[in-house]
Amino acid sequence: MAEKKVIGVIGGGQLGRMFIEEAIRYNIDCIILDADKNCPASAIAHDHIIGSITESEPIHQLAKRCDVLTYEIEHILIESLIEIEAQEKKLIPSASILQMIQDKGMQKKFYADKQIPTADFEIVSSPENWLLVLQKKNWKKFVAKLCRDGYDGKGVEILETKNILNNPDLIPFKGQTVLEEFIESEMEIAIIVARNEQGDINCFPAVEMEFDADANLVTMLICPARTTHEIQNEAEKIALKVVKEMNGVGLFAVELFLGIDGKIYVNETAPRPHNSGHHTIEACYTSQYEQLLRILIGLPLGSTQIIKPSVMLNILGSKNFKGKYFLDGMKEVLSIEGVYIHMYGKHESKPMRKMGHVTILGNTIEQAIDKAKMVQSVLKISQL
Ligand code: ADP
Repeated sequence: MAEKKVIGVIGGGQLGRMFIEEAIRYNIDCIILDADKNCPASAIAHDHIIGSITESEPIHQLAKRCDVLTYEIEHILIESLIEIEAQEKKLIPSASILQMIQDKGMQKKFYADKQIPTADFEIVSSPENWLLVLQKKNWKKFVAKLCRDGYDGKGVEILETKNILNNPDLIPFKGQTVLEEFIESEMEIAIIVARNEQGDINCFPAVEMEFDADANLVTMLICPARTTHEIQNEAEKIALKVVKEMNGVGLFAVELFLGIDGKIYVNETAPRPHNSGHHTIEACYTSQYEQLLRILIGLPLGSTQIIKPSVMLNILGSKNFKGKYFLDGMKEVLSIEGVYIHMYGKHESKPMRKMGHVTILGNTIEQAIDKAKMVQSVLKISQL
């Protein structure tokens, strides 16, 4: 390798932490920017600028010290990213892509413009608009998504058209909102796509996501997704098209619905490592984090092949307490072959907070799922 590069990571959460774990293997220094001095990545980062990702000064301070920058979170002050790019600083993925993704309305328009299949939608900005759209469309159910600043299911509501038309007081959002048809799906999947500066592109096998309806968080992730080869191929083609049409460089998680109508719809894209790619650390030849690192430092893309089928479980904070915690059930769980625990080093547990995850490998998907159910029944966050 040529001279030692310094990578700037905007955000210091668990995604940043797992990215830095890979960078350490390659002896590359990462400097993070995060307002929380105890954030998960802080303990292993080469340096930590304690500052806000929504303020200009700290972002510029980070940029000055790094050769290349990336981010592990989307709510960043976009104007500063545009400025640092104008100063010839490399940002991967680019600011224009993040700017489009930060706005769910712009993102949906992008899919529509590029003929990428996505749920039918309209963008509204007042209650009157809501009612006009709902009267015009033939949707039984629909999903309302605030264009900006939603995350992990916040700012997203699944609603019945009839209820809103009968009682407009139930309209939950005032700001610019995407209204889109509710897709009845057989399965939600995610495909992580990697593309480097030379235009080489590949993707990880599709993963199947299971949700906790209460918390709107992924609770079990199964890889490979239990679909036919035809559907996997079709979904991969669509995910690759999303990234090519963006002219994207970096790592992108494309979330898709497999509709009961047999069609595939793109839900949304995250321009960063993703919860649905944690299993790649143990289950694939190259992890999603290493793949991003390779792109950032100009090394060739790694193989995304699966070594073993896997299940990933998020370890979530218990619903009934906030505070100091320990992971209960480790001994039982670690007596099972192919179980890998990752704890993120968060100082405090909060209800449904992502505290860590477990990857479970099996010789078959069924075996991995059986083991995962055992793990799920034993492992939990308990109060200290
Ligand atoms: P967030 O960015 O907060 O993750 P999403 O847009 O991914 O929000 O929506 C959260 C969840 O809501 C999705 O994972 C999916 O389960 C459900 N959802 C979103 N859009 C639709 C849709 N058009 N049809 C059916 N379910 C949807």
